[in-house]
Amino acid sequence: MFIGDDSNERYYMVISDYLARFGYATLAALQHDLGLKCDGIFGRVTEAAVTRPRCGVRETTHVMQARAKRDWSKDPLLYDFTGFVATMPAEAQQRLTAEAVADWNALSPIKARRVRVGERPEITIGAGRGKRHGFDGPGRVLAWAELAGGRMMFDADEDYGTSGGSVRYKNVCSHEWGHILGLDHSRIHTALMAPYYDPDVATPQSPDDVERLQRMYGQPKDGGGNDPVDGQIVILLGQHKAHISDGKVILSR
Ligand SMILES: [Zn+2]
Repeated sequence: MFIGDDSNERYYMVISDYLARFGYATLAALQHDLGLKCDGIFGRVTEAAVTRPRCGVRETTHVMQARAKRDWSKDPLLYDFTGFVATMPAEAQQRLTAEAVADWNALSPIKARRVRVGERPEITIGAGRGKRHGFDGPGRVLAWAELAGGRMMFDADEDYGTSGGSVRYKNVCSHEWGHILGLDHSRIHTALMAPYYDPDVATPQSPDDVERLQRMYGQPKDGGGNDPVDGQIVILLGQHKAHISDGKVILSR
């Protein structure tokens, strides 16, 4: 097929591939998600928008995601690392992952933590590069998560870090953890679960992320704390010992 017009050529080179890769049915559907004019015309504005860094999860997986969330009945959910990106210390990635998971733990009855010795994880977090791992070199796709397989993968070709011009690890990790919990992408552009990377959004946002999670799982049973993952919180009330069970304070001698 001969494509003489330059804009048509760019369309086929850039957009047809993009639509297929990320699961958009039409160019107008993509423009809708990007908050652009839904005219179905591939111009400079749309072209510039599709170069933005984003999550690699396709837009059509939400049915699968919703179905798979029922698998998360184990309490607590356990995760572990199979690899790390090389641009920042592994310890920092472990700490930021724990922070991201704690943010989500506080919002619903679903609790997760890293495995301890002898435990097997339901969720693995790793790093990879290139097509084999669903990536495309530096830029554009930063990471993806697969709920059915319980896998989260970071693009090792990105400059991950905590500040400056680097891609903020926690922001991406927290977004991908949202997928692990069964959330699909949000059309609210300020939400953590919007498909495009935002350096200023590192935690689940209200409205949208928080409410969508709680519609699936309900409110946190412990009132929002993270500690019950490891069992009871024992507190002292005057002469009494007490613990919290199912959101109630139980007194004991
Ligand atoms: Zn995503």
